[in-house]
Amino acid sequence: MSVTIRNIVRCRTCGAEIFWATTRDGKRIPIDAVPVSNGNVLIESVNGMCTATVVGAGGGEYVSHFMTCPHAAWHRKSPAEDRCVEGSWVVS
Ligand SMILES: [Zn+2]
Repeated sequence: MSVTIRNIVRCRTCGAEIFWATTRDGKRIPIDAVPVSNGNVLIESVNGMCTATVVGAGGGEYVSHFMTCPHAAWHRKSPAEDRCVEGSWVVS
């Protein structure tokens, strides 16, 4: 199952294309918009939410922007104002 992300935004600090997802314990995390072959995050549709599950390295299609952003510390301190809006992405 592949997911088409429709709410791509740009990282406020480095300008990379990212989107926001919610982990199963309710935390919002930024995800790099470009799928990778050895990522550690799975993106799924769970009850209409864009849900991220962190798996082992190489087990996912995406990677957390926390891992790639040169300003990762800023992300950890800043509230996640952007939203992964219901309906802004689809499962195809
Ligand atoms: Zn960034």
